[in-house]
Amino acid sequence: MIKHIFGPVPSRRLGISLGVDIVPFKTCTLDCIYCECGRTTRLTTERSSFIDPEIIIEELKHSISKNQYLDYITFSGSGEPTLNKDLGLIIDNIKQLTATPVAVLTNGTLLYLEEVREDLSRSDLVLPSLDAVSPEVFVKINQPAGNLDINLIVEGIVEFRKEYRGEIWLEVFIVEGINDGSDELDKLYQTIKKINPDKVQLNSLDRPPACAAVKPVDTGKLEQIAARWKNCPAKVEVIQRVRQRREISSFSKNLENNILNTIQRRPLMIEDLEAITGKKRCELFKYIDVLEKEKKIAAIIVEDKIFYGPPS
Ligand code: SF4
Repeated sequence: MIKHIFGPVPSRRLGISLGVDIVPFKTCTLDCIYCECGRTTRLTTERSSFIDPEIIIEELKHSISKNQYLDYITFSGSGEPTLNKDLGLIIDNIKQLTATPVAVLTNGTLLYLEEVREDLSRSDLVLPSLDAVSPEVFVKINQPAGNLDINLIVEGIVEFRKEYRGEIWLEVFIVEGINDGSDELDKLYQTIKKINPDKVQLNSLDRPPACAAVKPVDTGKLEQIAARWKNCPAKVEVIQRVRQRREISSFSKNLENNILNTIQRRPLMIEDLEAITGKKRCELFKYIDVLEKEKKIAAIIVEDKIFYGPPS
């Protein structure tokens, strides 16, 4: 049974991407207030071998043989992949299996460690995130593990940029009232120039947050920030979500029907859908986005929890 590989999922940032999830659910160095996967249950900065790498490599062999058209193999999922100390070994093995480029989505918090930079050096593309540079804003938005220091994190990303030969696309996630003030945006801009990524990608929440205090900003606001940073040496772009099924070449009618049939009976949370379909939420959200847009399902918030059900 395939447990650690998901998709392929359509991704605006990465095209058709096969996901690799190498840490247990919500094992992370941060507990971001906007996290789509819910609260971090294991907040840690300790690297570990969570899963036998052989199992992941066997699953990858199987999935790669079934999916010929992939733009990327992407380490992502519901936790921080650099916490897995076999990351470099697994990337080396992927490189022996396929020529498909390898991308790593990371929150960037462990890049101050040489061993993490060394692991990531084997990939083709790294997408770190950086939402704040003031310690108080960093704590508010990212709720880090106790020993993490934002200055050290920034130094780690700067160091990585100097050493790394692949591309770095830096994601900045904007939450209204937290990191969208002029002061923080100016500090972020100065830091981004120091990091010198290949691209900066602005993002915000686009499905209802379970926590009412977390407010997304609209695309217009993200465009204003992009304009404010227009002199940045890196290209600054606003991430748009894939919402049209015709744009999703891997859209599976079976999975769509499975989701629709299941929620017809009773509204369900994303974790219920994961358990029922056996698919990861990163994959399920692609379908949910399309089905919401087509008004076949609707999100309902009950006591700070998001349920998906038939539209009323
Ligand atoms: S770093 Fe990513 S996985 Fe970890 S809490 Fe933040 S958004 Fe969630």
